Amino acid sequence: MTKKALITGLTGQDGSYLAELLVSKGYEVYGLVRRSSSSNLGRIRHLGDKVKILSGDLLDQSSLMDVITESAPDEIYNLASQSYVPLSWTQPALTAEYTALGVSRLLESIRRCKPDAKFYQASSSEVFGQPDESPQTERTAFRPRNPYGVAKAYAHWMTINYRNQYNLYACCGITYTHESPRRGSEFVFRKITQGAAKIKLGLDKELKLGNLDARRDWCFAQDVVEAMWLMLQQEQAEDYIIASGAVNSVKDLVKYAFDYVGLNWQDYVSVDPAFYRPDEAVLLAGSIDKIHKELDWKPRYSFKNLVELMVENDLKELTDRSAS
Ligand code: NAP
Repeated sequence: MTKKALITGLTGQDGSYLAELLVSKGYEVYGLVRRSSSSNLGRIRHLGDKVKILSGDLLDQSSLMDVITESAPDEIYNLASQSYVPLSWTQPALTAEYTALGVSRLLESIRRCKPDAKFYQASSSEVFGQPDESPQTERTAFRPRNPYGVAKAYAHWMTINYRNQYNLYACCGITYTHESPRRGSEFVFRKITQGAAKIKLGLDKELKLGNLDARRDWCFAQDVVEAMWLMLQQEQAEDYIIASGAVNSVKDLVKYAFDYVGLNWQDYVSVDPAFYRPDEAVLLAGSIDKIHKELDWKPRYSFKNLVELMVENDLKELTDRSAS
């Protein structure tokens, strides 16, 4: 029988890759999309009518219940959230509404309308904040350091509580930063790959960045959505860290991006303290031992592969744009 999946956050980076993956696996795919005054379907337009769009909002419980009842999904992936850490400092209450309470509303809607659906919650490495150990494992204590991390920690524990209290198949994937050509340019990875491509094409002269020594665990979003899917194909719900298992610095990223376009990064990159995060989390690196051992998952793309793929994409996009 055809499996049905509901994705929240369909219009976002991960939602679009997950929809592609599920369509390719023969799923009937539904996506919850909130109303906006202008179209936000750019990342999923190529999927056409292979994905059915249902109108709803994490802020509105009745819309969630309607969408779940109408789609009657076997699997629900909650990827929707206010996902930008710096904005969580300027809009902390809204971040909590979307990213924390939105998950309560969704879990309660599942419990009432489709308790046999399997549920994936997009947790984040930001729950670890300033961790006690590195790499972090599924047992590392949560010490979130920004309103986004606090909201994700609440959502994480609510998911586990609904699993324990109501026997739902509900689990959390703790993902570390993941990128793709569909990532917004407000995120540093895309800012750098776009910046290198613009300078190469003569569209810009310099790139201003924050802390070049900041280190991150970066993955490709396409690898990450594969892990989400695997997590819902098991007999029993379990939480997993989804990461690259490697740490690289912003400087490594800059170097690979400029090397790829044949330029010396030191001639173009300057450091501007205005781009430092107010409260930068350090040494966030995930151990993928559990997911590798139990689900046989590990990322297919290396950090260098990912940088090159994104610079290549940005060169093409910018060239096409200036030709049109
Ligand atoms: P994203 O590109 O920012 O997408 C967020 C999605 O959430 C968008 O589709 C957005 O819809 C939707 N959304 C926001 N508020 C909503 C609301 N009130 N009701 C319904 N939908 C709403 O995020 P992403 O990079 O794909 O990340 C997916 C998930 O993983 C998020 O939960 C994020 O916090 C988490 N995560 C991401 C990373 C990462 O590095 N990408 C790392 C750790 C965790 P609109 O199009 O209408 O704005």
